[in-house]
Order: sequence, then C-alpha cells, then structure tokens
Amino acid sequence: VAAFHCDRLLIDGSPVRDVRIETDSAGRIASVSPGAVAAGGDLRLGTVVPGMANAHSHAFHRLLRGTTNAEGGDFWRWRDSMYRVAGALDPGLMFLVARAVFAEMVVSGYTAVGEFHYLHHRHDGSPYEPPHAMERAIASAARDIGIRLVLLDASYLDGGIGRPLEPRQRAFGDGSAGAWLARWHSLRRVIESDRVTLGAAIHSVRAVSPAAMAEIRDGVPEHTPLHIHVSEQPRENEECLAAYGETPVGVLAGLGLLTPRLSLVHATHLTADDRRLIAASGATVVMCPTTEADLGDGIGPAFELASRGAHIGIGSDQNAVVDPLLEMRGLEAGERLASGRRGRFGPGELLAAATGNGYASLGLGSGVLRPGDHCDLVELDTGSVRTIGSVVDQLPLSATASDVLRVIVGGTLVADRGVLVEHTGRRPEDLLRDAIAAVGRGAA
Ligand SMILES: [Zn+2]
Repeated sequence: VAAFHCDRLLIDGSPVRDVRIETDSAGRIASVSPGAVAAGGDLRLGTVVPGMANAHSHAFHRLLRGTTNAEGGDFWRWRDSMYRVAGALDPGLMFLVARAVFAEMVVSGYTAVGEFHYLHHRHDGSPYEPPHAMERAIASAARDIGIRLVLLDASYLDGGIGRPLEPRQRAFGDGSAGAWLARWHSLRRVIESDRVTLGAAIHSVRAVSPAAMAEIRDGVPEHTPLHIHVSEQPRENEECLAAYGETPVGVLAGLGLLTPRLSLVHATHLTADDRRLIAASGATVVMCPTTEADLGDGIGPAFELASRGAHIGIGSDQNAVVDPLLEMRGLEAGERLASGRRGRFGPGELLAAATGNGYASLGLGSGVLRPGDHCDLVELDTGSVRTIGSVVDQLPLSATASDVLRVIVGGTLVADRGVLVEHTGRRPEDLLRDAIAAVGRGAA
C-alpha cells in the first residue's frame, strides 16, 4: 500500500499544506490528511494537483502534427489529410502510435484519457480476425504506459446524413446500430481490466441517424459514459436542420439523450435553445481549445454554459497539442478574446474542468481526491522559468506540460520529469520516433 506526502495539494483549487494521502490495495484513496507529517515510506512530493483527464482524444491524429499547416483550407480539408493517415494504419501500427501518444500524455500530466475510437475494421470494412484487434491494440498501449483509459468505442454508420459511407470511411462502419451494439457488448467482455474501461460514443449526427441513436441509447447500459461530437462546424447544423428540422442538440433532446451521462464534444455553434437545453440537462461539454483554434472551428460558449450549470471538461482531440495546462489556458483565452473581459473562468474552475469534470465525464468517479477516488496525482514545478513567482492557485495559468514532474496513476509512479518509469528510462519521443518511422515503412 503506497502513501504520499504533498508539501502542498490543490484541493478544490486551493492549496492545502502538508497533506498525506494513503491508498488501498486497488490504488484508490483511503484517506487524505491535511497538516500531517510524512511517514518513513512515503513518496514525498512538492506541489500537487489531482490527476488530469483528457476527455477527448483521437490518438492517431498525432501523426498529422506539424504536417498540415501549409495546406490552408478549413476543417474539411484537414479531414481529407486525416483520412489518408487513417488509411495507413493496422492494429500493429495503432499499438505503436497509441502507446507513444499515451506516453506523451502521461508525462504531460494527463492521468486518464477518453479515446474516442472509430477506426474499427480493415480498410475494406471487413472485421479483423481475431476480433477487436484495433481495440485490443489501444488497450494494450494504455496498459503498457500506465495511463487510465476509457475506450469510447464510437458508432459511425453513415457517410453524412442520409448518405452511405464513402470508401475511405468503410473501416469506421459496422453496418447498423444493432451490429455496433453486438460488437460493443462482445468487446466489453474482453477489454476491461484494472485501468481500462469501455465507454460508448456516437460519432455525430452526420454519422448516426436518429433511429440508430435511439437503438444505441437503449442498448448500452444505463451508467456507461456516452460521448458525441456536436456542432463543431456550421455545415453540420445546416445539414441537420435541412434533414430533421432540428439542430443537432435538438435531435439529441428529442431522443432523450441529453442526460448527465452524456458528454457533448466541441458544442461550438449553438443556438440559444441549444444552450438552454444543455445547461438544464446536467450533461458535460468537452471543449478542445487547442484543436478548435488549430482547425478554425470557432469559440464555443463555454462560460455561458458553465454559468448556467453545465459541466465543462477539456480534451486534446487531434493531439496537435498534448498539454492539459494549455487546454485550460485556451479555454479562458477564448473567453477573454470573445468578451473583452478577464477571469471569466477562475483558475480553480479551469482546474476543475481538467480534473473532476473530466473524470466524471469518463465515469471515473469524482476525480477530486476524495476517499474512494483513484489515487491519480500530478506534481508541478513551482520554480521553473515559467512558474517562479506564481501564486500557487494560479498555476493553471502559468505552468505548461514542461512543468510536470512526477505523475502517479492508481497509486503507482508512472512518469518522472518526462521519463517513463516502466520503460527503463525511455521518453515519449523515443516511442514517437519509432512509431512515426514504422508508419512511414508501412506494416508494423
Ligand atoms: Zn474529435
């Protein structure tokens, strides 16, 4: 049983001195004692925040980082490039890429990731043999690195509203909601373990019809986290209105899908009715500020949603940036740029988005270091060139992933100053170099 002593622990955004944390044999928190002295066997930490959740990731999009910025265009042009990368992957390569990206996440302070996964099948749409090869590859990658994984297995049935999948989308599709559900339940029997759980996702209103969404709503167990991309681009709203006479959020509301188990990803282009419906529902909105800026999506109404009661989480989405602190800062930066006012989200609210709200969105408990929560911790350097002189509770607005020191998942040290503890001194860049080279060569 591991125990930790923190010189300072940010609890609900405020620093508390000399906190001793004891864990149970399952890596969950048994007790949190402020004002305690360290015992002999404790791992002594400096300034600590709760583990941070990346509530929306597509690991393989990392392969596009630094390669698409001369293309110009818009989201849809970028998507063409992304489909080319998807078309180059098989389970062996997916393992290498996901492992490297999860490694970057964990040294950057993400202790949990919701991997929104839709690349299920061979490129002609036929299933892998043995089954679930892609999903097993992603789960193995997470286990290998020690990050907590919620595999958000996504249904992706149509190539746009009322259109069949395009040839380059065939690997995403299961044919029907019933077939997706059968695969999901089969996967659930084989994939879950200590740090790996299975969640569910509907790709978007572009890719799943209302009738299929209703089947998925009824076919997935009640408390399973359910995620969906919503209104990232105006074109999605226009097509949805033309087909169904409702916005995407309106379609979800009509199906009874707006509930606390739902997380809406992006939610950039919302009507006043959409905002009201989301705020009243108890759902989470996962903002992906670095991706939304990179793709020119727009600035979603995060502060307005939060001030009306919606929960806001953060995600790295395309992984062009893997840095929970920069996502927090991006969330507030968008608000400041759009409103002309500072401090729309306080530092404590930003940290709550990255910690408790993200954990809850992924079905991982409260994520705020209460007894029974996972013992997931991140130590931050308060004396770096970026952070020295910062008030501790304002670290979310001065630190970056470069200031992450030790990272603990389930009471186990998994990363230390950029080094992967269980990989004999290797760093994420070593794994990324290997993964990118293997993708360049073709098969793993
Ligand atoms: Zn996404």
